[in-house]
Amino acid sequence: MIAGNWKMNKTVTEARDFVTGVQGKLPAADQVETAIAAPALFLQTMLEANQDRVLRIGAETCYYEDEGAYTGEISPLALHQMGIPYVIVGHSERRRYFNETDDVINRKVQAVFRNGMTPIICCDETMGRRESGDKIHWVVNQVSAALKGISEENAAKVVIAYEPSWAIGSGTSASSDQAEEGCYLIRQTIADIYSDDLANGVRVLYGGSVKPDNIAGLMARNNVDGVLAGGSSLSEDSFIQLANYQ
Ligand code: PGA
Repeated sequence: MIAGNWKMNKTVTEARDFVTGVQGKLPAADQVETAIAAPALFLQTMLEANQDRVLRIGAETCYYEDEGAYTGEISPLALHQMGIPYVIVGHSERRRYFNETDDVINRKVQAVFRNGMTPIICCDETMGRRESGDKIHWVVNQVSAALKGISEENAAKVVIAYEPSWAIGSGTSASSDQAEEGCYLIRQTIADIYSDDLANGVRVLYGGSVKPDNIAGLMARNNVDGVLAGGSSLSEDSFIQLANYQ
């Protein structure tokens, strides 16, 4: 899976032009699934521009209640009704700037599944944690907390991204060894909670300064099933290159 996360970038016109521009240039979805998570404001326009429906259009976050008095929030029920298949949950920027805790993230994962969508769950790792040798607990705890109470049937559909915050937006990706190690840890955690079989079927992505010139080395690793790209998903050219990395 090659997924993009636009964060708080682009205008609605730019979003529409991007979707129109990548039509016919992405690999077939049964070979490489491509997705862009975009601001909620653009989603309807992007869905309408997505003529061939090869690209999946996802949301960057949503709330954990379906509807009600939650001013400004994004309803998972409304996202599903629009035809949105994926929602990013627990991105490190949401954890850091919007105080999303493991408990909030778990409730959001449940809300996404309850509404028939699939979460792309992000777990981060700070340089401090890496250097202190605490990275294993940190990653294991985030994955376990996000999946608390999630049935096997739903867990089998989940997408999880290993996104060390020291690599995000830094221009320097984790090495392919570091990406493999993080993705392996995530898969092991899923195997411990559920089963080896289930864990082997889950897609584990790496994210953090993925670019057309480093994607092939990352994708070559056993436990890296895809990438979540921020900056390099913003231009049509580089997203098309990422998607056609093979
Ligand atoms: P980046 O962002 O590719 O710009 O480092 C990745 C992410 O935050 O998902």
